[in-house]
Amino acid sequence: MTNLPELFGCMAFNESVMRERLPKGAYSTLKNAIEKGGRMDLTTANIVANAMKDWATEKGATHYTHWFQPLTGITAEKHDSFIAPCGDGGVIMEFSGKELIKGEPDASSFPSGGLRATFEARGYTAWDPTSYAFIKDGVLCIPTAFCSYGGEALDTKTPLLRSMEALNLQAKRILKLFGTECERVSATAGLEQEYFIVDRNTYNQRKDLIYTGRTLLGARPPKGQEMDDHYFGSIKIRVSSFMKELNEELWKLGVLAKTEHNEAAPAQHELAPIFSTANIAIDHNQLTMEIMRKVAKRHDLTCLLHEKPFEGVNGSGKHNNWALSTDDGVNLLEPGDTPEENAQFLLIICAVLKAVDDYQDLLRISVASCGNDHRLGGDEAPPAIVSVYLGDELQAILDSIKSGTVYDRAEKKSLTVGVDVLPPFPRDTTDRNRTSPFAFTGNKFEFRMLGSSMSASASTTFINTIVAETFRQFADRLEKAEDFTSELNTLIRETITEHERIIFNGNGYDESWTKEAAKRGLSNYPSTADCLPHLMDEKNVRLFERHGVYSETELRARRDILLESYCKQINIEAQVMLEMIHRDIVPAVISFEKTLADTINAKAQIKIESKAETKLLGSVSGLLEQLYDNCQALEEAAAGVKLKNCDLQSMAVYCHESVIPAMNALRVVADKLECLVSKDLWPYPSYGRLLYRV
Ligand code: ADP
Ligand code: MG
Repeated sequence: MTNLPELFGCMAFNESVMRERLPKGAYSTLKNAIEKGGRMDLTTANIVANAMKDWATEKGATHYTHWFQPLTGITAEKHDSFIAPCGDGGVIMEFSGKELIKGEPDASSFPSGGLRATFEARGYTAWDPTSYAFIKDGVLCIPTAFCSYGGEALDTKTPLLRSMEALNLQAKRILKLFGTECERVSATAGLEQEYFIVDRNTYNQRKDLIYTGRTLLGARPPKGQEMDDHYFGSIKIRVSSFMKELNEELWKLGVLAKTEHNEAAPAQHELAPIFSTANIAIDHNQLTMEIMRKVAKRHDLTCLLHEKPFEGVNGSGKHNNWALSTDDGVNLLEPGDTPEENAQFLLIICAVLKAVDDYQDLLRISVASCGNDHRLGGDEAPPAIVSVYLGDELQAILDSIKSGTVYDRAEKKSLTVGVDVLPPFPRDTTDRNRTSPFAFTGNKFEFRMLGSSMSASASTTFINTIVAETFRQFADRLEKAEDFTSELNTLIRETITEHERIIFNGNGYDESWTKEAAKRGLSNYPSTADCLPHLMDEKNVRLFERHGVYSETELRARRDILLESYCKQINIEAQVMLEMIHRDIVPAVISFEKTLADTINAKAQIKIESKAETKLLGSVSGLLEQLYDNCQALEEAAAGVKLKNCDLQSMAVYCHESVIPAMNALRVVADKLECLVSKDLWPYPSYGRLLYRV
């Protein structure tokens, strides 16, 4: 590797490249577009496009693509080469401002949730200048938003950018009340990515992993993660060389990959970047997932991003660290030194508290997927119930504000917000509560319900919007106040009292919390099928429309896409499982039975008893009967799944209530058989091989 600072960002058309390659005027117009959302005229766009093309071709690129994030949750690209005929039979390399700003991919191959039926089939992509263009595999990638001709968002980036704008607008109203000046407030995100690494050859022997990303069958290995020895173990040589190359690839693209370590489960790892502005962090996370998969292949490994690849082993999440930052880089979730700054900080904390309480359902919905259902509420992941953890110090401060009691015992003083300086509270001291789905971790909130394979777009869009809404309500009230300080104190006290039910400092994995949460009236939607219908609750539709983030039509389209993909996913899993049982497992068990029966017969001829063989044959053949019955039950359940002309909501409930239990029942028997049947005959590599032989 050449030196890192030189390598870093060498494949990104970043700030320094722009400064170096653009004429002054074009550079400042582009800067203005990036920082303040200013307009870009065609002349400037032409200059920028040309500079991008020159830069990219010098680095060996031959094509460009509008890189976008359709509602499939992954990224899409359609490559065009730079060539243009030049009349003498040859070509020149061209890239115009028009091609940079707008593209017209055929939208019909991407899910639109019915949006396309009412609008034109073609969609268009529009350049997002805030996220740097980059070169990947010889292609200049332009980050873009993807919309229908009617302007409906067909992607995850458009609503995200709209929510960033809504948040900026409302946050600035709040800051103004405290005399804090700034041009722009942005959400920041740090996305910690968990994943599994397995041997590629072993992976290729498992249909379930290939088709569904998770093992549908598999008996627990004799050693699971009970010894907790993986986390601190040294990184295996193959994995470490994978990580080294992964880091280099990411650094080249300007992704701030920072920490890497083993995770709790065997074969599980994590990569955490340094946080950045939310939409850039999300683009980078999408790239990270793509490159993880690619680099793993080069090392004869496979990267599993599924939320729950292995039953009985920890699943993978993506922690979404969220905070607010001014354009001067001041983190608004960091307590300040003056009474004004502290009052502002406390008000913002209260706004987040209220937002999370008012819209618990939305946060749950933002992480709803078939894969994540297997993880949430398991004993290693936050429950499906949303709650906030504040940490001892902040909790004590809020408690004292609420009750008007003395906070600082040394000085015997009770706190008046906006007048007194907050007693300094140490950051990051508490033994952080790892079981909380939404934890304040000193200067940011960490949302831990997101699944590893999911785009962080929806959750960030939702968090931005619900906080924008609370800011709006607070600003409406405080802007009218005659005595600002006294109104502020009342507002903060009221908010704490009204919303403290959302605060939970105990063990979120404990069963008693489910009961306690029900008593507090918190919502609990264990599955995707339970929570998705609430996306269209009137209060949610009103919220998103008010802030211009999603129209009702866009929201409905999204719900339908989510429901449909949930049903499709379960249906695929059921079909794969049936095929594995019928074509591979049943024949293997029969062969094993035959070996046993032959042995028993042979031994009988020479008058030797076969007690063990007979007993084993009895157990195996009993289980095979059960397997067959359960297989039939699953076949019947799966036959009930219809994906066309049906009510998607009831179909999702059907999948959840009929298909999944049938799969579970079938799996139990298959896993018992795996423990009895000869390893040489069993058609699939075991959990032990997958998890321990990298
Ligand atoms: P842990 O694993 O203990 O949760 P890490 O330090 O591994 O903590 O990850 C914390 C993540 O939070 C990192 O990605 C970090 O960049 C990010 N982060 C730190 N400050 C902010 C902030 N102000 N806004 C968003 N993310 C942040
Ligand atoms: Mg974390």
